[in-house]
Amino acid sequence: MIRISAIDVFPLRLPMKQTFRTSRGTVGDESAGAPHVYVRVTGDNGAVGWGEARPSPRWSYETPESVCSAIENYIRPALVGQRADDLAAVHRIMNREIAGSLHPGQPIAKAAVDTALHDLIARSCNLPVAGLWQSGSPHPVRLSYLISTTDPEEAARKAREAVAEGYSGVDVKIGLNPANDLDIVAAVKREAPNLFFRVDANQAYRLPQAVQLAKGLERIGVDVLEQPLPANQLLAHAELRRKVSIPIALDESVWSPSGVLEALRSEACDTIVIKLTKMGGLRGARLCGEIARESGLGLLGGGLTESKLGFVASAHLFRYLELTDPVDLNGPMFLKDDPVEGDWPIRNGEAVLPEGPGIGCRISDAKLRQYAASAT
Ligand SMILES: [Mg+2]
Repeated sequence: MIRISAIDVFPLRLPMKQTFRTSRGTVGDESAGAPHVYVRVTGDNGAVGWGEARPSPRWSYETPESVCSAIENYIRPALVGQRADDLAAVHRIMNREIAGSLHPGQPIAKAAVDTALHDLIARSCNLPVAGLWQSGSPHPVRLSYLISTTDPEEAARKAREAVAEGYSGVDVKIGLNPANDLDIVAAVKREAPNLFFRVDANQAYRLPQAVQLAKGLERIGVDVLEQPLPANQLLAHAELRRKVSIPIALDESVWSPSGVLEALRSEACDTIVIKLTKMGGLRGARLCGEIARESGLGLLGGGLTESKLGFVASAHLFRYLELTDPVDLNGPMFLKDDPVEGDWPIRNGEAVLPEGPGIGCRISDAKLRQYAASAT
C-alpha cells in the first residue's frame, strides 16, 4: 500500500516559438509564452510521479490560476494521507471536493493529479504505465501535423513540411476566417493528397453554415470534420450528420464516459476525440476510449498543446488504445523548451516513447525554477 505524502504544484510559463490560434482565439503566443502547470505527487515509499495541466480559457473555463487553486485548496487537503494506489477512491474524493454539474468539475486540474498518480504507481511497480493496464502493445503512435493559419500559401507550405517530415496526417484548424476555410483546405489537399485529413472547427459554426461547409469538405476529400457546432448542441450535430456524409467527430462536446453515452444516444457523431486532460486524466480517458470503441464509434486522439510530459503521457494511452488514425499531439512543436530532460519525442511523424518505468519523463529542477510563474 502506498499513501500520498505530498502534492506540489508548479505553475510555469514556457517559451513559445510560434503563436497558436484556433477559431476561439490565441491560446499562447511568443511574447507571453504558454501557461502550463506541473504537478508532483510523492508517496510514503519515496516514489514520485509527475503530471501536467495545460489550461486555456479560450478552450474551456479552466485557467492556470483555477488549476492551482483547485489542487492546492481542495484536492491536496483531501488527498494527502489517502492511498495513492487506489485510483477509484482518489477520483471519488476529487469529485466529492469539486463536484460536476452539467460538466465534470475542473477535469484539467484533476487530470494532472491523476497522471502523476499513474506515474507514481507504475514507477513503484517498476512498470511502464501501460503495464498497469496489462498491456505491452507495440502499436505505433502516428501523429498528424497541425496547420493553423488564414493564409492559403502558408497552409500549402506547412502541408509540404508535413509530407517531407514523414507525417501520415494533417489536422487543419478552420473557422479562424470562415470566408476562406475552403481555400485553406484545398491548398493543403493539393500538397498532401494522400495524408489522413482532419479539420477542426472548434465550435465555430451554426448549423446552416456547417451544412454548406461539410459539403465543400466532402468535395475536396476531407476524412473527418471535428466539432463544427457549439459544444452543447448534440441534437444539431445529429441533424448535421443526417444532411451530410462526411464523418463528424466530437471533441469539446464530450468530457466523460457519460458524455460518450449521451453522444451515442443522440446519434450526434461518428467519432469521439480522446484527450486525457479534458477527461480527468488517464483513468477517465481510457474508459471513454474503451466505451467508444466497444460501441462502434471511431476514435481520434488529441491534446491541449501540453509540453513533452503531457505529450508522452497521452502517447502511452493512444498506444494502449491502438488508435489507427494519426493523433493530434502537437504541443512540443510550439515550445522552445520545457522541463523534460532527454530526447525529442517525435521521429518520422511518430511519437517516441521513453524506456523505463512510469510515464518515463525526467523533470529538471533547474528548468522548473527557470520557468516558474506566479500562481495568482
Ligand atoms: Mg479539437
